[in-house]
Amino acid sequence: MAVWDYEIFWKEAMNQIQQELEEQEFVMWFNLQYVRSEENTIVIGVPSSFYRDQVKIRYQSFIEGKLHDLSGQTIAIQFEVVPKKSNSQEAPTVSRGQTSGTAQERTTKATTETPAKGITIQQKDPHPLLRRDYTFTNYVIGDNNSFAANAALAISKNPGTAYNPFLVYGGVGLGKTHLMQAIGNYIYEHSNAKIIYITAETFTNEFVQALQANKTAAFKNKYRFVDVLLVDDIHFLQNKIETQEELFHTFNALYDANKQMVFTCDRPVSELKHLSDRLRSRFERGLTVDLQPPDYETRLAILKKKAEARNGAIPQEVLELVSKNITSNVRDLEAALTKLLAYTELVQKPITIEIAQQHLKDVFASPKQANMSIEVIQRVVAEYFSLSYNDLKGKKRTQNIVLPRQIAMYIAREITEYSTTELGLEFGGRDHTTVMHACQKIEERIRSDPTLEPMIQNLIRLIKDYRTKN
Ligand code: ADP
Ligand code: MG
Repeated sequence: MAVWDYEIFWKEAMNQIQQELEEQEFVMWFNLQYVRSEENTIVIGVPSSFYRDQVKIRYQSFIEGKLHDLSGQTIAIQFEVVPKKSNSQEAPTVSRGQTSGTAQERTTKATTETPAKGITIQQKDPHPLLRRDYTFTNYVIGDNNSFAANAALAISKNPGTAYNPFLVYGGVGLGKTHLMQAIGNYIYEHSNAKIIYITAETFTNEFVQALQANKTAAFKNKYRFVDVLLVDDIHFLQNKIETQEELFHTFNALYDANKQMVFTCDRPVSELKHLSDRLRSRFERGLTVDLQPPDYETRLAILKKKAEARNGAIPQEVLELVSKNITSNVRDLEAALTKLLAYTELVQKPITIEIAQQHLKDVFASPKQANMSIEVIQRVVAEYFSLSYNDLKGKKRTQNIVLPRQIAMYIAREITEYSTTELGLEFGGRDHTTVMHACQKIEERIRSDPTLEPMIQNLIRLIKDYRTKN
């Protein structure tokens, strides 16, 4: 019987990867244990299925590439969930968060023994201004947010040193507040820093009240002597001239004292209107990152995590259905999950895929979700004909663009619920008669050109696959 032993390659791969990655990233995601070798395979132990899914998405092909370089052969990695032995020392960051995440977090002021070192840690009450579930442990990382999340983690470990201020922008429901509060929770847990989280709106209201009550000194003291200031949704400051002025001075005081500031905004700061130039330039002084909508894999990972956290028994295929159809943002994903959990609780049995489909029919068909699919149709068709997405949607009327554009309109009409008026808008603001005309043209061509129908069917398949993969 042949014996395979790739452990040496594994060790060297880990050595090299450790040198290539930032320390915090390595510590967070390479809590991996060599278990055994099998034919062309290394089996690796991971602490949880969540961790496994994340490592798979982020690093599997990277690690396999390394193994290939080192060994000259194709070695796949396979994961096995190896739950932590209760008396082993806790691994840093992630597993730590995972064990302290739920049950323990609820027991505030509990005294925990860290067995390996025998140190007694006094756990704190939760921070009054932060949601305790908004932690890094609960933040699922995908391609859409990995840069932002890693930067946030780096900042949490060394607040006020690099990346000041840290500014996160992105559309509604993409996890800005969660990430910002994760920074707050992390620093709170690991230090005695004084942390304030506040929305720009509350900041404004408090300031106006302080002005009216002649208590601006107290207001200034409150905000200019913190260690970490988290101001959420700064787009609210547009037009608020006096509050901007106040925040500008707060900013300078904190900046000079190397205190960490974090801001979030629903758009790039450059697109804010009625914001003083000097405050704008302060916002842009540090590190700015954006959050994108999550892809399919990440949506699924988030849903699983949220369902687990709420002890909801939702079958995998239902979670997949929801992830496929809800593409807009994480908040909408959660809303769908809440609906399903409510149903499950009422009828006291697990939900089926048919019932889920029926319950979420309106959500799935809402223009917000459908929007994505028009874009997907346009992108897939553009790519198929080697055109740019913008050209396909745009005004150019050259023949090589007109036909693909008509095909895209025809497909959109076939596979979505959009009216011709709505489709006109989606296709660069055209009139509904243009869409009708396009559909007629394609129908005529299908009758005269036998290759067209199979091509369209093929495109529809590609579009559906695209949605599944993304
Ligand atoms: P925003 O502030 O950008 O509007 P939030 O931070 O309020 O968005 O996020 C909306 C919801 O989605 C929250 O419940 C949050 O926990 C969840 N969420 C967003 N991104 C993630 C993620 N990457 N992993 C887990 N949950 C997320
Ligand atoms: Mg928010």
